[in-house]
Amino acid sequence: MATAIEIFKHLPKKNCGECKYPTCLAFAMQLANNKAKLDDCPHMSEAGRNALASSSAPPIRLVRIGTGRNTVDMGDETELYRHDKRFFHPTAFALRVSDDLSIEELEKKVDHARSLHFERVGQVLKLDIVEVECRSGDGVKYVQTLEHVSKLVDWPLVLRCRDPVIMSAAANRMRERRPLLHGADPDNIKEMVATSKSSGCPLVLCSDDLGKLTDMVEVARKEGVEDLVLDPMPGNMKDMLERCTVIRRSAIRKTFRGLGYPIYLGMPVGKNGMLMALTAVMKYGSLLSFEEMPSSQALPLLVLRQNIYTDPQVPIQVKPYLYPVNNPGPDAPILFTTNFSLTYFTVLSDIEKSKVPVWLQVVDTEGLSVLTAYSAGKLTADSVRNALEASGANGRSNRGMLVIPGMVARMSVKLNESTGLQIVVGPKESSALPKFLRSMN
Ligand code: SF4
Repeated sequence: MATAIEIFKHLPKKNCGECKYPTCLAFAMQLANNKAKLDDCPHMSEAGRNALASSSAPPIRLVRIGTGRNTVDMGDETELYRHDKRFFHPTAFALRVSDDLSIEELEKKVDHARSLHFERVGQVLKLDIVEVECRSGDGVKYVQTLEHVSKLVDWPLVLRCRDPVIMSAAANRMRERRPLLHGADPDNIKEMVATSKSSGCPLVLCSDDLGKLTDMVEVARKEGVEDLVLDPMPGNMKDMLERCTVIRRSAIRKTFRGLGYPIYLGMPVGKNGMLMALTAVMKYGSLLSFEEMPSSQALPLLVLRQNIYTDPQVPIQVKPYLYPVNNPGPDAPILFTTNFSLTYFTVLSDIEKSKVPVWLQVVDTEGLSVLTAYSAGKLTADSVRNALEASGANGRSNRGMLVIPGMVARMSVKLNESTGLQIVVGPKESSALPKFLRSMN
């Protein structure tokens, strides 16, 4: 991203304030910080707009595959290290099938991909893409396989085929799904670029030599094909880490457009592949392709991805609300916790385990956990009372009792004064809730 002074040079310098900032320099500073849009200035010249559009383009191009509700966005990253800001577009996971499988084997593998579906802290974790490889060398069979897979699943597709004639037929047949084409190499680059251009589908460029990858990017861009993905083809962990880091560092730190694209990585089968995949989630893989994906590997990979791509400055939150757990009636007690997602789902799961009916009041603490919220003044007797009043909790439960987290036992007196309810101090750890709740009944 250009600096404020570099941006200012291209602005009209009228200082008219129509962009809602008093001067062009103030507007330039907002643009440099991504807090304003170029379109907010109605007086931009075409030349200025073009100059700024190219200098403000993201260092790594955003590439989208698929259409409709299942699109996958890759790239558009701005950071080398997650702690500097955040990573934006989660690594996509693809499971590979091939056209030499029988119909039964194909359907079984696609079913397995769909079954890898987990829920964690209120979010659904799943695979994203099916990759279809041409192993038969038969164009008709490959297209038939693609059509069959398309009927089985509406996820985005990767078409994996190095034969330019077969790829051309397949890409043009599947173009409405906007699949990713894998891929071009130094021998077939011209034909593959032509197919990408005619079908409008993004293209993967493959080479284990980063210099050759840069040359291939140049060839594609000269033909007007900009939606590119790079496959640096590492055979081991060392090569993967080295090549991915060079690509990311060149794009982010040096704004080198020749490598400013998302990264595709094919993962080897087995334990080594799992280790490489875990590393690739953290170190710049945009799309990982797997030949096999047992659920014992899928869960840790999906959880790691969720953790790495969650904005560390914005805790995952649940809606403040009075949640019925285990089918409570009017004689069920009220418990409260905060709207930090991890806290809520841990408490919820422990209450469910107890099988004791409970009204669970979630208090808005801006996503902070119980003790942090209390220490920060976001969890007070007044905020709990307000939450109970807003949800109508006292109309739901006539037990006259509020169970509070053991961590904030010191709130008891104020809470009793504020709510008029009998305050019962619960356990400090959520894991002790089942035993505690059963003992209350
Ligand atoms: S609207 Fe354009 S010309 Fe007017 S102050 Fe803003 S940037 Fe300057």
